[in-house]
Amino acid sequence: MHEVYAKSILSAKNGMNLYRGCSHGCIYCDSRSTCYQMNHPFSDIEIKINAPELLEQALKKKRKRCMIGTGSMCDPYLHLEKEYELTRKCLALIDHYNFGVSLLTKSDLILRDLDLLKSIHRKSKCVVQMTITTYDEALCKIIEPNVCTTKRRFEVLNILKEEGIPTIVWMTPLLPFINDTRENIENILAGCVQANVYGILLFDIGLTLRDGNREYFYKNLDTYFPGLKEKYIASYGNAYEVASPNRKELLLLIQNTCKAHGIICDPAALFTYMNTYEDKQAGTQLSLFDL
Ligand code: SF4
Repeated sequence: MHEVYAKSILSAKNGMNLYRGCSHGCIYCDSRSTCYQMNHPFSDIEIKINAPELLEQALKKKRKRCMIGTGSMCDPYLHLEKEYELTRKCLALIDHYNFGVSLLTKSDLILRDLDLLKSIHRKSKCVVQMTITTYDEALCKIIEPNVCTTKRRFEVLNILKEEGIPTIVWMTPLLPFINDTRENIENILAGCVQANVYGILLFDIGLTLRDGNREYFYKNLDTYFPGLKEKYIASYGNAYEVASPNRKELLLLIQNTCKAHGIICDPAALFTYMNTYEDKQAGTQLSLFDL
């Protein structure tokens, strides 16, 4: 790991990454792709130690409050966060200045900040997104090795449900010939229904592979699924989009289950929800697109 002083923290769409790189070790990680031009090894995590100061300056300058997003490129609850507390400090600022937040994580460390999440949601909106790709605990330890497993993630979702915090499950990626099975999807869906999630987010049944993440993924296939790399190469060549042969059946299963239980699965509707600021104190809503 190495510390840096960042020049800015909020993107044009009000997203922020407090760290760069990730220690969770997911074998399919897209953030490893060379197109992101990370100038340090992925596991040598960059820590933007002045992120809270930069965020406070940015929030003070905003003419209108909005939703702040984090977690798109790296998990805001890395193990390092226990020591650095950058996510917690930024949540405290978001709470103090009455902004909203949406976070994407795979870690139960988010429960440490439940007090802030609840406070933000009382005044505005807090949405927690959690990635869940496999119901099989042993498989989860292989494909997402350094973070809590699915069982614990569902416990987190159920705690958030009890606390009234809306949740969205990213059911992606689903890896062809590994976790793209009806049994896996049915079990994840059952967990989502029980946790009363607001939405399930996925674009297709499959994964994306490009330079950087393809090599890492194939290396792990050779280690944990001997022979599967050759099957991928024969089936997909160098394709960016790697779709499951079961995609039609599984997409229908997900859509029908979501419809039956009132779970939103339209990605555009979910992104609009996550980007729309709510001022519960004033009773108004303000979308990202109004800014
Ligand atoms: S949590 Fe996300 S960023 Fe981190 S290794 Fe897994 S896929 Fe990559």
